[in-house]
Amino acid sequence: MIASIVDKALDDGCLAEDEIAALFEVPLFTDNSARIIAAGRRKAEQACSSLAEVHAQVGLNVARCPINCRFCSFAACNEVFEQETELSLAEAVARAQLAETEGASALYLMITANYPFAKYLEVAGEIRQALRPQTPLVANVGDFSLPQARQLKQAGFAGIYHAVRLGEGRDTSIPVERRLKTMQHAREAGLLIGTCLEPVGPEHTTEELVAKTIITRDARPMYSGAARRIPLPGTEMASLGMVSKARMAHIVAVVRLALPRSVFGNCTHEPDVYGAAAGASLLWSEAGANPRDTAAETEGRHGMATGLCRETLIDAGWQVLQGPSRWFAGNACS
Ligand code: SF4
Repeated sequence: MIASIVDKALDDGCLAEDEIAALFEVPLFTDNSARIIAAGRRKAEQACSSLAEVHAQVGLNVARCPINCRFCSFAACNEVFEQETELSLAEAVARAQLAETEGASALYLMITANYPFAKYLEVAGEIRQALRPQTPLVANVGDFSLPQARQLKQAGFAGIYHAVRLGEGRDTSIPVERRLKTMQHAREAGLLIGTCLEPVGPEHTTEELVAKTIITRDARPMYSGAARRIPLPGTEMASLGMVSKARMAHIVAVVRLALPRSVFGNCTHEPDVYGAAAGASLLWSEAGANPRDTAAETEGRHGMATGLCRETLIDAGWQVLQGPSRWFAGNACS
């Protein structure tokens, strides 16, 4: 049965819910798990013409965010950060340019949900000017309206990163519907979407993994993938633990098989050679703040440098794109 589901996925057939569930439930270190990982890798290579990408994210601010996603270090309820800080415009520009110089194929700008939108557009405009015109700029922001989506497009963003997270509406205060609406606004404004099955924890049921995988498929993204939750010391969710890298590699492969080949990329985060070997063709480097870190500067901690992400992909047997993302340009042809 598993072999026929895998064959169907490799023929680019659309997997049904029960088929995706069956793939998730295969025990690790079995012949079938190896089959899934090999097939996930093959489909990932086919979708991006065997050329992986490294994208970079700059976190612009640290704040106590009232949205209170329980897995996030910015959530006010987690009381991780005492002080609110922001990168100066000069620092933000310098970090974006550094990532580009180091070989990032797209640049993401992340803020907490309570960062002023008008200011974000202003900072993004300056960064847009400072980057090479071909380097895609990607917004990683809270939920937004259709007019705001159009403003993002006008400011020079090529796309957004957005996800209906595992536990959305339960471990966050955001209804699933609002996250979906934001993705719809992005599509209507001509912004491309990157998404992911995240943040995966040991408590998530197969049913929820399947439902959220299908949401990433329905979003018609440029890439999907899977990322695990990193426990934040001292927070309630830390007691739930963390999914192993071996299990994440399996999940990364299943997500790749569940999405059509027209979805160019498959990400994993944090960057990891097991996930990359199992079919993750996109890794992110990070600078500034990040929601999985308890320090305001994530470089050298949870945030990996662009060059190290590239080395991780190479270690996993990938060739890595040099230059602007082909996926944001709408193709993955060699
Ligand atoms: S994930 Fe985003 S919206 Fe949620 S608490 Fe963190 S910064 Fe706020």
